[in-house]
Amino acid sequence: MTNKFPYADDVVDCIDNGVFVIDKSFKIHLWNDFMSIHSRFSAEQIIGLNLFECFPELPKKWFERKVKSIYLLKNQSYTSWEQRPYIFKFSHGRSVTGGVEHMYQNCCFTPIFDLDNNVECVCVTIKNVTDLAIKAKQLKDAVTQLEYISSIDGLTQIFNRTHWEQRFKTEVERVKRYKNKVSLIMFDMDNFKKINDKYGHLGGDEVLRKTAERCVNLFRSVDVIGRYGGEEFCVFLPETNIENTRNVAEKLRHAIADTPVHYESKEIFISASIGFTCSNKEKNNYEALLKEADEALYTAKKNGRNQCVNFLDIAPED
Ligand code: GH3
Ligand code: MG
Ligand code: MG
Repeated sequence: MTNKFPYADDVVDCIDNGVFVIDKSFKIHLWNDFMSIHSRFSAEQIIGLNLFECFPELPKKWFERKVKSIYLLKNQSYTSWEQRPYIFKFSHGRSVTGGVEHMYQNCCFTPIFDLDNNVECVCVTIKNVTDLAIKAKQLKDAVTQLEYISSIDGLTQIFNRTHWEQRFKTEVERVKRYKNKVSLIMFDMDNFKKINDKYGHLGGDEVLRKTAERCVNLFRSVDVIGRYGGEEFCVFLPETNIENTRNVAEKLRHAIADTPVHYESKEIFISASIGFTCSNKEKNNYEALLKEADEALYTAKKNGRNQCVNFLDIAPED
């Protein structure tokens, strides 16, 4: 190669990106200052040597495939840090790491042609995109955190109604498609207004927190618990028949009513009324299931509270 412009090498050294040139056998022909600084191989040391012998940690197979395709297709090829965080294991030189260990890199492979328009060698550029990658990572973490926060009820730390309903809808869709089943338990604290009146709103809050905690301990990890309203909760239980749901509902009733909640050296005795139902082939509409559990819950209240009612026991015969 002849330089038409005598300072071309100096210009390449000024660029704040890595630039190097390799031929088909991966022999290095050009190595700019950026590459020298980050790799600690000067141009004098490395030019004429094989790239993989100097950097045994390079992803050799991937690199070979990439270069082969440049020779074959004669097109530029690009790879971003999102596909492969880095090619060369360079330090990013940041005092504040931002949670990343190495320099993130975007990489471009450009063919250099001879006079017959055949690819003579390949120019590789390495761009330091560590700042960009850190910002993207922080943004992704923030979105994940926000998604979590927006799905959780602040007081009880279980799912809020919006998120729980979304999950329940999705589950009912799954049930429809795969002809599975899902059960639903809905419960409401008994005489909660009186608890607030007697122990104050903060006492009532403690009861709601403890109730949610008891639920989390009682249900399986596949069951999805949500705070449906003020002192009303919902749980759906995938792949659970009505008999098992009855047992779980009864356990839940005991978990709530058998142990008082300790609050400021006082004991608050609580109970809940529970309604439950289960989907079947004809009945797999999420709104209908909610309505049924609510009706069963209403019956439990009407019949004296602190009890479980199965909707199927009160459902009018078809
Ligand atoms: P029932 O047995 O018929 O359900 O009677 P209840 O008193 O539990 O029901 P009611 O609907 O009359 O009262 C519910 C009370 O729950 C009223 C409301 O102020 C209270 N509440 C709702 N959300 C919260 C909350 O986040 N914290 C507290 N401490 N109280 C709440
Ligand atoms: Mg209530
Ligand atoms: Mg209520």
